[in-house]
Amino acid sequence: MTARPAAGPPDGPEGWNLVRRVVCPGSFDPVTNGHLDIISRASRLYDEVIVAVLINISKQTLFTTDERVEMLREATSAYPNVRVARFHGLIVDFCKENDVSAIVRGLRAVSDFESEQMMSQMNYRLAGVETLFMTTNPLYAFLRSSLIKEIATYGGDVSGLVPDQVLERLRARLGPGAPSSG
Ligand code: ADP
Repeated sequence: MTARPAAGPPDGPEGWNLVRRVVCPGSFDPVTNGHLDIISRASRLYDEVIVAVLINISKQTLFTTDERVEMLREATSAYPNVRVARFHGLIVDFCKENDVSAIVRGLRAVSDFESEQMMSQMNYRLAGVETLFMTTNPLYAFLRSSLIKEIATYGGDVSGLVPDQVLERLRARLGPGAPSSG
């Protein structure tokens, strides 16, 4: 017999979350058009989308949490049912606190799948929180924040891959004349 998860979903309709609220978690250092594609598609499918920005304590980020939140707020201002929040610790705790029933993650390639699958199974085991995967728009399948930062560091053109205000911040932080660019 298959064991039920320790904290699985309820059996009946009572207790089901009527507001279909999902969360898109990530580091967003910085937000790219690939992230925005997933967020905007989720906003068309669900009542509310919370973009949850990870407060990285151990990981060095280019942008502070406040900057990452600000860039996301600007980039998602056209979507009335999207809001941006920050979190640290376990995403399932954030889900419980905010009455969120599912996590939405983007899948770019098979290489994303293995770790995402383990994480989703762990989150379900921990708290009965579901994870829904969306495959990337092929236009953005090669896009990741770390690559954007690397290209921008060496003066490469990343316009069209990130929102314009992110482009400006990247230029100010990494371009010629930036404080730490030598
Ligand atoms: P994390 O460090 O948690 O992977 P990211 O900020 O890199 O955080 O990504 C947040 C989410 O956005 C993840 O679900 C990731 O798979 C997804 N994502 C990132 N880049 C893309 C892209 N180009 N297309 C689709 N989804 C993406």
